[in-house]
Amino acid sequence: MNFKYNCPVCNRGQNFEGLCLKCKEAKHLEEALKFTPEQIQERQQYLIEHLDDLEDLEDTAAEYFWDCLSLHGVISEDLQRAALNEEVFYPWEIYYHAPEDVRDGLIECLKSTEDSMEASHLLECLAMQGDDVALETLYELKKNPPKWREKLYVDPDVYAESGGWTFDESGKRLAINYDKCYGVEKKGTGDKAVVIGKTREDRCPHCGSLLVDLISIDGTDKRLDFLGVPGKITATCCPSCICFAEGFSRFNLDGSSEACFPYKGQSDDEENYVSDDDCKVLENNGLELNEKDSPLFYKANDWNAVSIGGFAHWIQDCLISKCPDCGKPMRYLAQLSWETIANGMCEGTVYVEMCPDCKVTAMHHQQT
Ligand SMILES: [Zn+2]
Ligand SMILES: [Zn+2]
Ligand SMILES: [Zn+2]
Repeated sequence: MNFKYNCPVCNRGQNFEGLCLKCKEAKHLEEALKFTPEQIQERQQYLIEHLDDLEDLEDTAAEYFWDCLSLHGVISEDLQRAALNEEVFYPWEIYYHAPEDVRDGLIECLKSTEDSMEASHLLECLAMQGDDVALETLYELKKNPPKWREKLYVDPDVYAESGGWTFDESGKRLAINYDKCYGVEKKGTGDKAVVIGKTREDRCPHCGSLLVDLISIDGTDKRLDFLGVPGKITATCCPSCICFAEGFSRFNLDGSSEACFPYKGQSDDEENYVSDDDCKVLENNGLELNEKDSPLFYKANDWNAVSIGGFAHWIQDCLISKCPDCGKPMRYLAQLSWETIANGMCEGTVYVEMCPDCKVTAMHHQQT
């Protein structure tokens, strides 16, 4: 194909002048990471004045919101109060750890609404607020469901999961997310604290693809102390079948692991979409754990995200697996975009969860 222009940075051929989309994004990220406290304050003020535009993901307001939250971990209480005042309930992340008066306002709205769509948004907002009163409210609503519950697919404890927590039958809080987040980005320094996409020798009983250790995390690395696992966490799967079915695997702290077959819904003559050569591409991804941690929402609005801990960018709804051994909701561990880990070998993102007690990981795929 003949292109009229080339990107002045990466030389990629294209039909328009100036930076390509990827280089433009990289430049924006570089600039946004350097925002001063004054620049962040200006953007919070802009958001207060343009709350209605937040719903449009392409709008400047959305860009400012995510720059502040994901790169700097900032949402001002003034912004949270203004959002409640104008009844702007999306994106629900606005209400992350909002102050008590805002929380009480959300609860009031939830108790007075009859609209199930609005109730659903408010449940997400309260999940993000996430304090003990929010928990009690969601617990009560689960025990005594209002009329709007009939039209929702899941209970309030499942909504709570998108805020990074949930509760059991007795109303006891359970953590879903970890309170630290690290990006995993292209570097090539040889850091092995996190290894992505290592090809194995065993094959998938459904399709014959080589299996891969999708991610292996060294819990003894100082940076990864927050996981509380004194050894290696490895999540093993079939890279082809994992795009169609949820997969589990078991790990030992010494780094060994085993995928749990069969995958539900997969037969023993599935097509293999991942050749042995594709597996090699996957292995040479050059991704490494960042030196420093980032704000919790660091990769929570990034289609090409690879990160550990913090919040995920769910392409569809937040989905936390139950541990196949103990039945408890698992802990959200990592997200891996295929675009980033395998050069677009397939679309979408694989989310990894773990039960640290039973040493089981779950992996599931989402795409648009
Ligand atoms: Zn470029
Ligand atoms: Zn397979
Ligand atoms: Zn378990």
